[in-house]
Formats: sequence, structure tokens, C-alpha cells
Amino acid sequence: MMLVRIMKSALRGKGIAVAAFLLPALLLFCGCAGNNGLSPLPEEPRSTVQLEKGMHFNELTPEEERVIVHKGTERAFTGKYSESKERGTYLCRRCDAPLFRSADKFESGTGWPSFDDALEGAVKQLPDADGRRTEIVCANCGAHLGHVFFREGMTAKNVRHCVNSISLGFLPEAKAASVTQKAIFAGGCFWGVEYHFNKLKGVLSAKSGYIGGLIDNPSYKQVCTGRTGHAEAVEIAYDPALVSYETLAKLFFEIHDPTELNRQGPDRGTQYRSAVFYTDEVQKKVTEKLIGELRAKGYKVVTTVEKAGTFWPAEEYHQDYYEKNGHEPYCHIYQKRF
Ligand SMILES: [Zn+2]
Repeated sequence: MMLVRIMKSALRGKGIAVAAFLLPALLLFCGCAGNNGLSPLPEEPRSTVQLEKGMHFNELTPEEERVIVHKGTERAFTGKYSESKERGTYLCRRCDAPLFRSADKFESGTGWPSFDDALEGAVKQLPDADGRRTEIVCANCGAHLGHVFFREGMTAKNVRHCVNSISLGFLPEAKAASVTQKAIFAGGCFWGVEYHFNKLKGVLSAKSGYIGGLIDNPSYKQVCTGRTGHAEAVEIAYDPALVSYETLAKLFFEIHDPTELNRQGPDRGTQYRSAVFYTDEVQKKVTEKLIGELRAKGYKVVTTVEKAGTFWPAEEYHQDYYEKNGHEPYCHIYQKRF
């Protein structure tokens, strides 16, 4: 913290001599600085990067592409978020995936936005090509974000994600409510699954319904025959700034038995199968990672990982079943597994 204070006082202009003395140290200290930080901008055409199939990317300016695709570094103190204190969520500039919360942003004095934590599963760490530093990229699209540093003593978490402003987008808190994300889980009778998710912070709604089958708009009676291919499932709308997909998926694996094939407790049939219906590649990867963790612990997980098609909401009398009837779920008891 001492170093931060010294840097802050230098930056407040307490003396040109002090600042002149500290600036080289500052530049050494901040690992975001790369050789190309000060290089002139090449005249490049608009993004020509090969896009992964099905993934939507924002169009990048040549300067954005220089940093995000070619792993460049913006000049310190030039990015629009380096000093920002506005509350909200920082997104990947290229794919809009939520990456950091303003609550985890701190003043590092380095001239780059600094966060001592990232949203769960949102940021991937890779060894930098320089053999020294640890690069951070967007886990969803691989966009270059900056670097991560440990044990600098700047915050209690002792971590600094040093990020280029230009790699980020920003979603103010006030607008966040309109960009909720969806997650869909099937783990036996939907009443119990819905009950547990409705109690989790960051979950805006949990709806019972049907997914993964062959016919449109199926009824409960049709699904119960086990012949339509649908699973009883719950569609969750959540605020990614408050709860991560990984937290949701972990809860899912802990409120039903993922080792039971086509049944949960007394309910039997493929409509009661254990399944995760993913809506993007990040959800798929997080799910596969968690299944791997459970298998490593000895659980013989049978959960299927299926691409989400249309989710059909169930009849009104199935919604909030336990709330309406004042009962507790009979076959969805929380059990810690992670
Ligand atoms: Zn991205």
C-alpha cells in the first residue's frame, strides 16, 4: 500500500522532480507495459480475424485490434477506464462477455484499470510469450486483456488484473437489469430445482418448463409419457454481475443426484434425466470442467451436456409449486459436492 500511496502523491503533482524520479520505476512496476506500448499505430483494415462459428464478435477499430488480437498494450493513463469509479460491470470489448465488477476495481496508480478479482470463469490465465508474465484473455473469445500479477501487496486479495481499457466495454449498473443471462438445468422434477434456484442471490427468476424434445409447445401430460424426448427443466434468468454461471452450475450439481440415470428419487423416465442445456460455449466449458471435478472425486456423473433449443414454459400451476403449496422439495436436498 505504501507504494500506491507514494505513486498517488506523485501523480497528484506534488513535485515534478519526484514524479520524474518515480515515473521510470512506475513503468517498470506495471507489467502491462510492453515493447509495442509506444509504437506508432499501423494502418490496418477493419478486423479480418477468423471468427469462431456461431460466435458474434463486435467489429474492432484498428487500434482495438492491435491490442485485442495482436496482444498490444495501450499507453498508460490514456485509456478511458483507468480512473473510472462508476458502478457496473466491465465486459469483453470483442464478445461482450462480463469480465470484471467495478466493486473489484482499485486505484493502482499504474495508469491501467486494475481489478483484484475477475468474475468466475470469465478470464483465462496463460503464460506470456515473454516467459515472465502471466497473460489474461477473455475465456469466451480469447481476446487479449492484459496481465495478472500476484503478491504486490496492493489489496487484501493480493492480485492485480492489469487490463487495457481498450479491451473492455462497460455496462453501468443501472442498465445491467436489462442484460440478464439465461441458464437452463434439468435435474428431475422441476419443482425442486426451481425452488432452490429461486433462493440464490443474483437469480432474477426461475421458470419450470420443458426442453430437448421433438415437438413444439408440449403439455405436461405429453412430456410425462417419456416419448417426446423433453426433459423437465428450469430456465434461470440471472444477473452475471451478482452470480456467475459457475456458481449456478455448482448449485445444480448439489441439489440433485447427477449419478442417477434417467431418474431422480421416485421419478423415473428420460424426462427426469440429469442435463445441462448450455446457451453458449462458456457455459458448456464450465459445465464440462465441473463434471470433470466431480468425476475426479469419484462421482460417476451421467449428466448430459446438450445445446439449448427452445425452452417451453410449463403450465402455470407448475410454477412456484412449493411456494404455492407450502411444502419443501421431497427429492432435491442440498448436498455439498464441491
Ligand atoms: Zn471476449
